[in-house]
Amino acid sequence: MNKKQIIQDELNKLSQKLAQEEIRAKSNLLIAREIPEFCKLDNQRRKLILELSKQLPTSKEIASKTKQLNTLISKQNTVLKNNGISPTALQVNYSCKKCNDTGYVDGQMCTCLKSNVQHALIKQSGINSKLQYDFSKCDKKILDANEYLSKIYRFAHKYCDNFPNNPEPNLVFFGEVGTGKTFLLECIANELLSKLFYVVFTTAYDVCATMVKAFNSPYAERETILSPLFESDLLIVDDLGTEPLFHETTLTNLFTLINERQRNNKPLIVSTNLNPEQIDERYGNRIKSRLYNKRTTIAIKFEGVDLRLKK
Ligand SMILES: [Zn+2]
Repeated sequence: MNKKQIIQDELNKLSQKLAQEEIRAKSNLLIAREIPEFCKLDNQRRKLILELSKQLPTSKEIASKTKQLNTLISKQNTVLKNNGISPTALQVNYSCKKCNDTGYVDGQMCTCLKSNVQHALIKQSGINSKLQYDFSKCDKKILDANEYLSKIYRFAHKYCDNFPNNPEPNLVFFGEVGTGKTFLLECIANELLSKLFYVVFTTAYDVCATMVKAFNSPYAERETILSPLFESDLLIVDDLGTEPLFHETTLTNLFTLINERQRNNKPLIVSTNLNPEQIDERYGNRIKSRLYNKRTTIAIKFEGVDLRLKK
């Protein structure tokens, strides 16, 4: 599902829940109206509300009628309780009091819908929930003590702030194992997911497996299988270089993916333990030059504690 479909799907879930809730409250009201005493009080209450809405009453009248109204409601509640019905059973219980489960407040997406969409995006993104880091988990002391590292983190923050309008939309993080590449990838992924971008976080191994699966599947299913790789707002591929290389197929698939995303202005972030020369050796110049395209990509070298921001 793309982001539009996810939002629609979450809105449908909200309205289904709301409709069920309204049906439940209404059927309980119908049951309550079978009780003659409740029905009598209810008619008086409706009449009173109608009177209040019809005229322009004085504040004294409002106070008096409100008092009558509260007395009626209280009596009704007692009747309900005496008949084994909870007064709240007649009310529509909104799970979100801000938007009454409509998903929007003043034309803006409500926090409840935002959070549901974010969860659906995370579920679809492939991010392992046990491995979630975000910028708040960065050690400030380490950053303060290390100017290079701090430069990279500031850059990553800025990248997220400007997303998807970065002049160089693609990034390559390269360097030895254990220099913090995956950590920073997860910070970026979480930051952008929290802004409701459709982020897919995957490994090179899974990219290759997904593409092989797609091309071995019936044509009608291919688009659905490949959609996260090609249509996500941001694709993050961790650990390029660790996937098995079934030569031509892997190379063609990787080239197609990188090329298509660049052609459609869809940002891509790749991390790899290989340096540019090793990328050239393993994948050939065609993939290396797409990956390290200076017009669209910033390559950042991670070097343990001595981290430099390279362009
Ligand atoms: Zn809400």
